[in-house]
Amino acid sequence: MATDPDCIFCQIIAGELPSTRIDEDERTVAFMDINPASWGHVLVVPRAHSVDLHGIGVEDLAACSAMAQRVAGRQAEVLGADGINLLNSTGAAAWQTVFHFHVHVIPRYQDDPERDPLTLPWVPAPGDPARIAAAADALRCGDPT
Ligand code: 5GP
Ligand code: ZN
Repeated sequence: MATDPDCIFCQIIAGELPSTRIDEDERTVAFMDINPASWGHVLVVPRAHSVDLHGIGVEDLAACSAMAQRVAGRQAEVLGADGINLLNSTGAAAWQTVFHFHVHVIPRYQDDPERDPLTLPWVPAPGDPARIAAAADALRCGDPT
C-alpha cells in the first residue's frame, strides 16, 4: 500500500502521530479534525496515500464516500446535526493544506453560531449564460441529451 513517510495523515493512519479516531475499515480511517469548522467535524481518509482527488483510486474514493455517509448518519443521529457538508479540497488554490486525500464531514446546526459559525463562502448570483455555455462546451463529454 502506498505511504509517504513525510505525510502527517500517513503518520496518523500508522499510529505514529496521535489522533482521535472514531471509525475505520479496510480502506479508510475517520478521525476528528483538530481545527473543527463546527462541532463534530470529522476527516475521512484512505489508508493508502494519494495526494488529492486527481490521484485517488476509484475504490478508495468509493470507500471514503461510504465512510463519510456513515459518519454523517451518526452526526445527525447522535450529535443532532440538522445538515451536513461534505468538502474535499484538491489543490492549494482550493484551500488544500494537507496533501493526502481527505473528505471533511462537517455537521451543521441551524441557528446555532456557537456550534456552527460557518457561512457560505460565495455569493450566489446569476451567471452570464454565454460564459456558462462556454464552460459547458469545454467540459461536455460525448453527446448528452
Ligand atoms: P485541508 O485544508 O487540506 O482541506 O484540510 C486539512 C485538515 O486537516 C484541516 O482542517 C486541519 O485542521 C486538519 N489537520 C491538520 N493537521 C492535523 C493533525 O495533525 N491532526 C488532525 N486531527 N487534523 C489535522
Ligand atoms: Zn499520506
